[in-house]
Amino acid sequence: MKKEIDKARLNQFVPEKGYLEINERGHLEFDGFDCVELAKEFGTPTYVISERKIKENYYEMLRAFTNIYRNTKIAYAYKANPLIAVLKILNECGALAEVISSGELLLANLVGVKGSNIVFNGPYKDRESIRSAIRLGALINIESFRELEIIDEEAGKLGEKARIGIRINPIVKTGTISEWETALKGSKFGIDLEHALKVYEKAKEKKNIEIVGIHCHIGSQIEDPRPYAIATERIMDTVGEIKHKLGIEIQVIDLGGGFPIPFRYANVPPIEAFAEAILKPFKERIEKYDLDNPTLILEPGARIVGTSAILLLKVGLVKREESSKKWVIVDGGANVILRATQGWYVYQCFCCNKMREERKEIVNIGGPLCYTGDVIAYDRELPHLEEGDILALLDCGAYTISTLNRYNSYPFPAVVLIREDRTIKIIMRRETFGDLLMNQELLL
Ligand code: PLP
Repeated sequence: MKKEIDKARLNQFVPEKGYLEINERGHLEFDGFDCVELAKEFGTPTYVISERKIKENYYEMLRAFTNIYRNTKIAYAYKANPLIAVLKILNECGALAEVISSGELLLANLVGVKGSNIVFNGPYKDRESIRSAIRLGALINIESFRELEIIDEEAGKLGEKARIGIRINPIVKTGTISEWETALKGSKFGIDLEHALKVYEKAKEKKNIEIVGIHCHIGSQIEDPRPYAIATERIMDTVGEIKHKLGIEIQVIDLGGGFPIPFRYANVPPIEAFAEAILKPFKERIEKYDLDNPTLILEPGARIVGTSAILLLKVGLVKREESSKKWVIVDGGANVILRATQGWYVYQCFCCNKMREERKEIVNIGGPLCYTGDVIAYDRELPHLEEGDILALLDCGAYTISTLNRYNSYPFPAVVLIREDRTIKIIMRRETFGDLLMNQELLL
């Protein structure tokens, strides 16, 4: 199900002081930098990320929860943006790491996250990654009865105990698009609620397992706090049962991510509303079941980095006469911003060099790729565009750099970071055509 978006708001520029503004030249400014100048200096397509915004989003969320429940920790979901520079910033803020693969484990290790601050999730963890996680002392959230056996086996071979949680599916519909629902009955993820006690009972029998936590993750871009309240009630009631029926004290309650990007065109509730929805049933049940100050972990990805970046694109050509629809073709499409072309996320789009011009044309914005679905936006109000104009997509810091691809042999774009000290740094250089061939046998 796709949500209706208010077209007028989607086309409306909402400035944010010091972060998104129109300067005296009529250009868009992002975090104090003129976007037209940025495009000149770094080329297009280029992602521009703000360090300041990442930190602001992290601390805003941490504060909203710790104000109500002190023992809350944030594990940043690496999948949302796994660039080393971004991970370093968040590690310095004190964020834990939520990782899914050997690669993400390696990244956490590389940027200096302590093993005990790593949460290792995912429906399939290969044995090598399981061994690394055990050695590091990471918290491994198990997703199936079979995985429990495998982890017990691997820990036994290493002569260590694996610190585990178990992902329980609380069976909650969040009302986002179907691709984002992760807690419907029979989901690929986790163990359905009705089997929760049984799996903890089995885990208790395993010699090489230390039961530490419980986990759930109900979806992404969840704009309604209520499903969080329901999931929390169900998970906390399970924690109570585990304590009173099995005698196991759960120390870590990990309620996953899914907190929405507050797009400027949408009416997303403030993060405090999510904190209240979760922490009311959470604290009530701590009392009810006499729990011993468990650690609450949250795993936001999109919420932390979503509003931290823009994407700069150049208008390659404009098709006005050939069809009933006006098409603006830009120099990056599904290869650089896949989720926009799939319709999972909808981004605002403005012309950086014509911010004060009247927006009098309704256009589709297409990428350069040779397939029909390569369309970034439909029916947007923009000024009369010409070749060479620079467009910016806003709030596109999540699941964009992590979903880059090279369809039609376009190299990856550049990514630059605006540091807090107002310097600017290339944190991922633009790929060359040589990079495209690097791993191939040329047979020349
Ligand atoms: N935790 C888990 C287990 C996930 O699968 C995901 C996303 O897929 C996240 C956290 C982060 O989700 P979001 O970026 O929507 O907060």
